[in-house]
Amino acid sequence: GWRKREVNVLVAGLDNSGKSTLLNHFKPDEYRTTDVVPTIGFNVEKFQYKNISFTAFDMSGQGRYRNLWEHYYKDCQGVIFVVDSSDRLRFVVAKDELDSLLINPDVATRAIPILIFANKMDVKEAMSPVRISTAFELERISSKPWHICASNAVTGEGLNEGVEWLTDQIW
Ligand code: GDP
Repeated sequence: GWRKREVNVLVAGLDNSGKSTLLNHFKPDEYRTTDVVPTIGFNVEKFQYKNISFTAFDMSGQGRYRNLWEHYYKDCQGVIFVVDSSDRLRFVVAKDELDSLLINPDVATRAIPILIFANKMDVKEAMSPVRISTAFELERISSKPWHICASNAVTGEGLNEGVEWLTDQIW
């Protein structure tokens, strides 16, 4: 057979956006957790799925941990940004965090693919991926491939499609 090289993918987003739930979908059954404990402080979750090494963290805590999470930017070959499509209260906060990620020199200077999961698509108040891409001004990302995908991390809907897009951009 042929071997694909290993890649590092960052999974970022605000707390409660659905990162842990999403990653559970890709974890082997024995690692799968049914109860997801809310993240306290700065936690980094890491695991390997096929040839992808996922590193996930919350972009929250009033920026207290910003230098800790930004440390992961230079070694990644792709980014998954998870947004809670139904969390209109923190929508601007999520946009600010995505913007700060995109202008970080370790990300801005490299043509790494950016996948946005418009998660919690099943919630009645959820905004559509089109509305989110307009609000996030995604069309302004000109130096990188990007893609936005509606997802439901609980059922797994949209997740494989999104991750396939991302890995296709890398390999
Ligand atoms: P994290 O803090 O980003 O890791 O978010 P979690 O994975 O802990 O999810 C936060 C909460 O949102 C949990 O109660 C999840 O069950 C719920 N959740 C995650 N994804 C979805 C989704 O797509 N739809 C719905 N309805 N709930 C979700």
